[in-house]
Amino acid sequence: MSWQDVLGHDAQIDRFRRNLANGRLASTFLFVGPTGIGKHLFALKLTQALFCEVNPEVACDPCGTCPSCQQVMSDTHPDLHTVGLLPNKNLLVVPQFTGGIEPGINQEFRGACYEINLKPVAARRKVLIIDDADYFHPSATSKLLKTLEEPPANAVIILIGTSSSQQKDTILSRCQIVPFNPLSVENIQQILVQQELVQDTQQALELAMISNGSVGFARQILEQDLLEVRREFLRILPGLPNHPEKICSLVNEFVKRASTRSEKGDQLDFLASIVIDCFHQVLLILSHRQSVSDQAMRDASQQILENWPGDSETVIACIDRTADLKSHLLRFANITTVTEAWVDDLSQIWLSAGFKLPTP
Ligand SMILES: [Zn+2]
Repeated sequence: MSWQDVLGHDAQIDRFRRNLANGRLASTFLFVGPTGIGKHLFALKLTQALFCEVNPEVACDPCGTCPSCQQVMSDTHPDLHTVGLLPNKNLLVVPQFTGGIEPGINQEFRGACYEINLKPVAARRKVLIIDDADYFHPSATSKLLKTLEEPPANAVIILIGTSSSQQKDTILSRCQIVPFNPLSVENIQQILVQQELVQDTQQALELAMISNGSVGFARQILEQDLLEVRREFLRILPGLPNHPEKICSLVNEFVKRASTRSEKGDQLDFLASIVIDCFHQVLLILSHRQSVSDQAMRDASQQILENWPGDSETVIACIDRTADLKSHLLRFANITTVTEAWVDDLSQIWLSAGFKLPTP
């Protein structure tokens, strides 16, 4: 019953159960969905199901305790290979797929494409899990494509990314795409309590409500004390047209804390989701509907409304413009330019809604 640890992805488990029961497992998959929702854990559980020494592959039900299942979870199984962004690297690079010399220790290593083509040592198959698949160096993509075009018999290759729009058509056409959804508030609450990351269920609920359906993000909020950043951002947000520079500087400083592009995107996503949540609150209040939120969010949405003579359309325009933010960062890379353009656009929408700037 090892799937017990995987919450919120029952439909995906059923899909693989059906595939294995029918004897029709594809060779290459692309898992897509927000970061921190358990796609890598799902890939490991699937690998356990394929390697388990107790339950047959066709059952798709890993025992979780046999030596193979344990080796998969500790990433020591000889037939499981994993690739992901190396420390301080923004892209997956060619040697990770074709091999090279390990800098520092001057030792030769074999790349993932070589490994996956070898005969399995202990299991019936080889499995390759490629994390951070949004960030292929173009040359690395072409090396991997050769393997995807002629996948070794029985091998399973799982690419893990956030969206199929991040992939080249040549990769997409060779993968079965498996979409994963953000987790529910209840699922995140349960996971945080199970993993003893929080003091009590109330703290788990508060975190779950602001974590965008991502356990990874809930962890990050805890580790980096992001609750304080959120409170400060909500405090200055209602004054955006008066003090755009304050918003720009908070966003820039916060995003620059991250080192990789992926992490910067997540940081920006965090702030964007605060703005979107806040405008959703404004919409709910405008339409006299009930909402559940914390005090900081309630205060910010009330303050925005006090100076907001606009209608729902202008609120929705602010939400739409903010929803684009991460994709703008991924496309243009320069955080300062992206932030200034966004804040400027929001100011314009805000002012067109009738917001009056104070006279100097
Ligand atoms: Zn097992």
